[in-house]
Amino acid sequence: MTDVPTPSAPDPVDDETRDALLAVVRRFVADEVVPTAAHWDATDTYPEPLVDRMAELGLFGITVPVRYGGAGLDLVTYAAVVEELAYGWMSTTGFLNTHFMACYLIGRFGTEEQRQRWLPVLASGEIRAAYSLSEPDAGSDVAAIRTRARRHGDHYVVDGTKTWLTNGRMAGLAVTLVRTNDTDPPHRGMSVLLVDKEPGASTHGGITVGPNIAKLGYRGIETVEVVYDNHAVGTDALLGGVEDQGFAQMMAAVELGRVNIAARAVGVARRAFEESMRYAQQRQTFGRPIAEHQAISFKLAEMGTKLTAARLLYQEAARKKGRGERADLEASMAKLFCSETCWEICAEALRIHGGNGYASEYPIERLYRDAPLMIVGEGTSEIQKVVIARRLLEEHPLR
Ligand SMILES: Cc1cc2nc3c(=O)[nH]c(=O)nc-3n(C[C@H](O)[C@H](O)[C@H](O)COP(=O)(O)OP(=O)(O)OC[C@H]3O[C@@H](n4cnc5c(N)ncnc54)[C@H](O)[C@@H]3O)c2cc1C
Repeated sequence: MTDVPTPSAPDPVDDETRDALLAVVRRFVADEVVPTAAHWDATDTYPEPLVDRMAELGLFGITVPVRYGGAGLDLVTYAAVVEELAYGWMSTTGFLNTHFMACYLIGRFGTEEQRQRWLPVLASGEIRAAYSLSEPDAGSDVAAIRTRARRHGDHYVVDGTKTWLTNGRMAGLAVTLVRTNDTDPPHRGMSVLLVDKEPGASTHGGITVGPNIAKLGYRGIETVEVVYDNHAVGTDALLGGVEDQGFAQMMAAVELGRVNIAARAVGVARRAFEESMRYAQQRQTFGRPIAEHQAISFKLAEMGTKLTAARLLYQEAARKKGRGERADLEASMAKLFCSETCWEICAEALRIHGGNGYASEYPIERLYRDAPLMIVGEGTSEIQKVVIARRLLEEHPLR
């Protein structure tokens, strides 16, 4: 590994630069995302104009080092951008997340050739990336994956089925965890391949991309199964040129994914909270705004308090991970608290909106459908508790 600055640990940006970027993102969200989100969600169509605008704004390269064509911004800034985007529509943050995890993996663990090949085109958004770990029979239990890559001279032959690939159809790169060796314990025999694929195509060599998985929420963004049948991948696609490091590499990226989910949960929750604040002051029952009924005002008080606490947690996780420190505990705590809080706040927002909370005409109905993804993606709440408890017990052994 070299000492090239990694995408997750650049110098922190000054407040002025961060504020200027956030102002641009807020304007994009207000002018282009908020007015169109209901349409993209209802039709479950890929929002090409929004993705193109995100590329134009440089959002796909936000954390990629400047020398590889990115903006070289820090993780706290990235997380703040994710919160703003999610406020408009959660799916926009999904376009960034797997892409960002791929950029991180290549920047942190890739060879110099891999960085030069991939980072500039990823930073510009010309190529977008998927992050592929889950399989039909392995999600939480990563060590149980079965997709196998057998080495034959200068290439690997890949066989197996991956699923739940966010961005899996439109991506030109799928960062994929495969089994390269049979080992005990099994997680030691895994490697990461940077699998080149044709964006938008249903087949490419021995790769077949399945139809979009129909989902409760998180619409517009494609989530697909990918089958590998005798698919040849050059050995130069092995991340960092080293086998059997895949489990640790993918887990390092998952921590960033958890920061993304935590920040996007705060964005969705903030939208639900602000919609509720407005509605509660407009809607009258029994001769006064419902905000003046103590039962409703207490809900607002709790929502606002939890929202603020959630934001502090994701910011702390982003700061720690961004400084290059161990941050599995903080990332899991942030992911757990922010995602559960988001779902709770969306449910409270639905109650505050009464019957209108159930109507597609109001954004609460969409927020309520989008929120549960965050308690599952990048590791379920139960898995976050496993990580948190293990770390806390390590830190507090019996003396
Ligand atoms: C919309 C969407 C997008 C996704 N995008 C991606 C993607 O881009 N790339 C990717 O690789 N994956 C992706 N995933 C997959 C996601 O990461 C997994 O669904 C998640 O990790 C859970 O795995 P699973 O579905 O196999 O559930 P399982 O692992 O089968 O878990 C089922 C239940 O058992 C619980 N459980 C499992 N093990 C334990 C344990 N040890 N202790 C206590 N409880 C336990 C879980 O918490 C859960 O409640 C996506 C999923 C969704 C829904």
